[in-house]
Amino acid sequence: NTIQLLFECENKTQDVILGEDAGSENVGLCAVGNGKELYSAEVKIRGQEIVKLLSTRRQMRRVRRSQAHKRLIAEVHKILPISKVIIEVASFDIQKIKNPIIKGKEYRQGEMYGWENIRQYILFRDKYQCQAKKTCKNKNFEVNHIETRMTGGNAPNNLNLLCKEHHQDYTDGKLKKKFVRGESYKHQTFMNTMRWKLFKELKAIYPNISLTYGYITSIVRKANKLPKSHRNDALCIGGNPKVERLDNYLQIKQVRKKKRNLAEATFQKEHIRRKLNAKQIVRKEGL
Ligand SMILES: [Zn+2]
Repeated sequence: NTIQLLFECENKTQDVILGEDAGSENVGLCAVGNGKELYSAEVKIRGQEIVKLLSTRRQMRRVRRSQAHKRLIAEVHKILPISKVIIEVASFDIQKIKNPIIKGKEYRQGEMYGWENIRQYILFRDKYQCQAKKTCKNKNFEVNHIETRMTGGNAPNNLNLLCKEHHQDYTDGKLKKKFVRGESYKHQTFMNTMRWKLFKELKAIYPNISLTYGYITSIVRKANKLPKSHRNDALCIGGNPKVERLDNYLQIKQVRKKKRNLAEATFQKEHIRRKLNAKQIVRKEGL
């Protein structure tokens, strides 16, 4: 196939980096090498039927998604000599919010990155909901300083999420609702365990894997004026957004397999159930 030919012509080894935007339903994949985009795909992970045997549906979905991601990444490895995989583990880096120490390379861009990290955290913490009214449906979010930036600073306990209109009202003193600055920053447990779990599982298979965060992807995408899409995010996750792009990309929709015979289907369910139970037991013993 053409991709392999291109590689045989080159008499040097080169890094081929695969970025994956591991969304829960939509996946973007992008492989880049030698200054060119070599593979670009958007995948819709199939909606699954409910397996009643399982204790929780959520748990089941998590396992299935993690498997779907691993399968997709393995597929790309079959056609390209991938030397590095990069995935996003979360939209923000909680460690950087707790200990905002800026050093080295990040110093110059520190403020912009730091703020986008905090913004992504506030979006998550306030659940993508304007805090002025529970009924507010606006999605044009802005981060509001409860006390002014000058007196209150940029700590998360002085910030909350408002829509553009309610933010303006708050700034003008017209908002009826009053916000009180949080007493201290409280550590919370997060969140997106699927992506962290996926990262650990992938690391066992592909040791040369690294992680990134959604806030970085977002800055890189905007800086390169790329419209938001899963394949563009995958490109930015890979860290080389200025490469020569492919003029087309794969759109993959997972189709439900034909009905297996009953025995096989039951075996599958039983197999997955046992795996999950085993995990639960391990977790309990670990506590
Ligand atoms: Zn609002």
